[in-house]
Amino acid sequence: MVVPRGSIGDHARKAEREATMRTAPQVVVIGAGTLGLCTAVNLVEQGAGVTVLETNTIASGSSGRSVGVVGTQLTDPLDLLLREHALRQFRNWESLGLEFNHIGYLRLARTEAQMELFERSAGLRAGAGFRSRLVQAESLRELVPHLNTAGLAGGIFGPDDGYIDPHALCTMLSALLRDHGGEVRQYCRLEGVIRRSGGYRLETTKGTLDCDIVVNAAGGWAPQVSAMFGQNLCVGPERHEAASILLDRALDYTMPMVMDLVNGEGSGLNFRHDRPGEMIAEIHHVAAGPPENPDTYNDRYDEASKVYLAELLLERLPGLPGARLGRGWAGLYPMTADQRPLVGPVDPDELSFVSAAGAGGYGIQLAPVIGQVAADWALHGGPVSAPGTEVLLPPPESNVGSLRPGG
Ligand SMILES: Cc1cc2nc3c(=O)[nH]c(=O)nc-3n(C[C@H](O)[C@H](O)[C@H](O)COP(=O)(O)OP(=O)(O)OC[C@H]3O[C@@H](n4cnc5c(N)ncnc54)[C@H](O)[C@@H]3O)c2cc1C
Repeated sequence: MVVPRGSIGDHARKAEREATMRTAPQVVVIGAGTLGLCTAVNLVEQGAGVTVLETNTIASGSSGRSVGVVGTQLTDPLDLLLREHALRQFRNWESLGLEFNHIGYLRLARTEAQMELFERSAGLRAGAGFRSRLVQAESLRELVPHLNTAGLAGGIFGPDDGYIDPHALCTMLSALLRDHGGEVRQYCRLEGVIRRSGGYRLETTKGTLDCDIVVNAAGGWAPQVSAMFGQNLCVGPERHEAASILLDRALDYTMPMVMDLVNGEGSGLNFRHDRPGEMIAEIHHVAAGPPENPDTYNDRYDEASKVYLAELLLERLPGLPGARLGRGWAGLYPMTADQRPLVGPVDPDELSFVSAAGAGGYGIQLAPVIGQVAADWALHGGPVSAPGTEVLLPPPESNVGSLRPGG
């Protein structure tokens, strides 16, 4: 059973706030990454006036540095519930033109015990409405003809999973926001906050702005933004790297997303098709380093990492035509202590300051549900449209808690 991390016990205060809220509350969202923009769209669709402030440009933070995978290969009921909500919204946006590349997702197993886990997870996933099937070792090459299956027991394959271009997602969300009368102010950084009756006066690099409610969707910078409100949000940015793999010619099949990691066991190597003649690969490190400073971290791919990635790829995918490393980069996972996002107010006495942060390595796939839940907290004082997600409420101890240790 999932134990709620925090709770807003004072229903009277919630009711009072709802009663005093104007019909069209003015909400400012800090950060134009996937979490901020999904929240903003959910807010304007419910009639709020919304301005998104962004220090830099749309998707310039973690969102634009991600590899965009949307997968459902998980076993925890809460993880599946969150993806049910998120995928419903993705389907909706697909119908509006979002390109979702359903290349499928294959998670590899190295042991029979992992295959048994996959079998149980396939049952849970079916219950949540996600298609998947077990793949025995001898059939893996039907999905990935270049795969070296040495040491593998098989895998689980979800044909409907895939990837989206996070820039395209953020651009689409910004357009939806504008269509509903909202706006994104780029190159406009929040620098300070003054509380005023019923709301806030925000000091930005482009002047002051008054509003009723603020949503903190500042990714790796979310603790800095919280500090401006006198609050402490426990989000620690972890550095992760990715690189493109260039091929001499396009493969005659579409490489699905392939992941060699099950509950922390495996090399962490993962790769997928990106475009004809090009793939994207990563090594997912389970034990990452200490939290980074989002303003000064090294956003380039380390030479040593490139060598290690090349070694793992040559071993697992021998014979790719002319495979060589292309562009590499690094970005941040905004991590939390229990690796679940923090969505809702941190302080029960300040319901008008809502957090939408800490999505770790899942902030593209979970953004639609995080945005929905954050908007619910901002406008209704609770996650009314997504029951079961109140467990994402930041715990009171996030004001004093510690991050997951590095190493
Ligand atoms: C290499 C890599 C691969 C990844 N792959 C995947 C994947 O396959 N699938 C997946 O789901 N997730 C993936 N992720 C994780 C995902 O990218 C993040 O979880 C997600 O982008 C977080 O989004 P966000 O909106 O919280 O933060 P961000 O995208 O960082 O947005 C926060 C924004 O806030 C702005 N900001 C900060 N402070 C202020 C301020 N004071 N005033 C105004 N603006 C401010 C910043 O400029 C920034 O643009 C990956 C991440 C990395 C690094």
